[in-house]
Amino acid sequence: MHNQELYFPFLKEKGISLWVKREDLIHPKISGNKYHKLKYNLLEAQRSGYTTLLSFGGAYSNHIAALAFAGKEKGFRTIGVIRGEELQQRWQDNPTLRAAHTQGMQLHFLSREDYRKKEEATLLFKLRAQFGDFYLLPEGGTNSLAVRGCEEILTGEDAHFDVICSCVGTGGTLAGLANSARPGQRILGFPVLKGGFLKDSIRNFARKNNWNLVPDFHFGGYAKVNKGLVQFMNLFKEQTGIPLDPIYTGKLFFGVLEMIKQDKFEAGTSILIIHSGGLQGIPGMNAVLKKKNLPLIH
Ligand SMILES: *Cc1c(COP(=O)(O)O)cnc(C)c1O
Repeated sequence: MHNQELYFPFLKEKGISLWVKREDLIHPKISGNKYHKLKYNLLEAQRSGYTTLLSFGGAYSNHIAALAFAGKEKGFRTIGVIRGEELQQRWQDNPTLRAAHTQGMQLHFLSREDYRKKEEATLLFKLRAQFGDFYLLPEGGTNSLAVRGCEEILTGEDAHFDVICSCVGTGGTLAGLANSARPGQRILGFPVLKGGFLKDSIRNFARKNNWNLVPDFHFGGYAKVNKGLVQFMNLFKEQTGIPLDPIYTGKLFFGVLEMIKQDKFEAGTSILIIHSGGLQGIPGMNAVLKKKNLPLIH
């Protein structure tokens, strides 16, 4: 996808050149990085003769939404195993699950306790007994084929950037960026989850040591948002025309701009931010914000 330059007066003052890779424009409902993560997995599923794809996710999961849309496009039956039994009664109120279902995805709800066993053989055996054989994608979609797809995010036109910034959920996207970066380029990952377990799982897939995590901008953890973040996202969209999502890219862009203001980058640095998408999650988050009497995302 093409890169778009940002023009804020403070960037000029600090001598920073800042660009955005608009992976959010790849597809309105498939998050850009999920498109890359699914690409080789769907080819492999096809090649191995599978007709059904199954994966796991929470109620607002970009991965589940992407799987439903991409699976339909490629002619697969899709099954989404969703965390939270209570959603069985009211999944129609959830925009992500409703959209996935409209794409033909069959939704299967598990209690939180059962969901935690998603990598255990007994649960997978039960699911195969119920749904027949399927090509399994892990929660969040990260495996070695997903990382290979994410190695295609950076292209030749990105070779001159000094720093590349990306959101981190499972770290598959970050690993792909790290593997395909040119010598001398640094990858900064902004985790949206609290906790230190990430580094080991990234090392499983990243072949280089050219990356660091910036743990300061998760805003309290996964799917946690506050008024300041929403106001930042709305102002950013007004000023740049670029919409951000509340779970991933809002926090990333806030963090990068904050680091520039705090002089964390030398004058002359050119930075590329990967806008990985996630915009399908906005209506769901707005319903939550409305209940809490917080400002809504425009
Ligand atoms: C899933 C997702 C991420 C995180 O990707 P990982 O490969 O799991 O780290 C980042 N941004 C968006 C918009 C996503 O949907």
